[in-house]
Amino acid sequence: MKKITIAIDGFSSTGKSTVAKQLAKHLGYVYVDTGAMYRAVAYYAMQKGLINERDFKVEELISQLSNIDIAFKFNEALGFAEVYLNGVNIEKEIRTLEVSNFVSTVASVSQVRKKLVEQQQKLGENKGVVMDGRDIGTVVFPNAELKLFMTASAEKRAQRRYDELVEKGDAVDYEAVLKNVQDRDHLDTTRDDSPLVMADDAIEFDNSDLSREEQFEKILGLVGDKL
Ligand code: C5P
Repeated sequence: MKKITIAIDGFSSTGKSTVAKQLAKHLGYVYVDTGAMYRAVAYYAMQKGLINERDFKVEELISQLSNIDIAFKFNEALGFAEVYLNGVNIEKEIRTLEVSNFVSTVASVSQVRKKLVEQQQKLGENKGVVMDGRDIGTVVFPNAELKLFMTASAEKRAQRRYDELVEKGDAVDYEAVLKNVQDRDHLDTTRDDSPLVMADDAIEFDNSDLSREEQFEKILGLVGDKL
């Protein structure tokens, strides 16, 4: 069967990665979580003391970009690829609210985007890929055969993210998670370089009132149409 490129964009915590992983598994495609790559750079900047609440040493981060190696390695037990920064598995470390609070600032830097977009284009050059992010259908793969744009209300999205963090044992408060979701929506849609917008040929998909199974079935139908 022919292989296609599936681009899934949308706001934070709209369940993009859940459906992307389900699709990749079902189709035997590679899944690439581009948010994890931006999170890895943000985590690097935090570790090196280049970003905190008061200060962002953007020029220093730019000068160190060539020292940042991001890789994905498939974890058989989990059924998806985990992200590595300079050879170290940082899958857990990048999912904290602290990283979420800095990632969109780091992701607004054009030099960071250029480096990561080049790597993303390489990862998907042979098609058979499901990639999720904010600019996949507009910048990374403007010719993707199927483009989805996921939406849901900020409150629903914050609740989902809050539940995930609590389940992992993180002591967070709902209002802080909601604020992070709203702040990232704002930063992601208003940045100069590759802001989050729906591609003209994307299909908008509001999953506020759908279960994971219902969502998957519907999206699988859309994939079937393209194949
Ligand atoms: O998808 P996730 O919520 O993990 O993404 C974290 C952040 O990384 C987003 O809020 C956004 O600022 C940035 N990002 C981006 N472009 C992408 C993927 C993520 O700017 N393709």
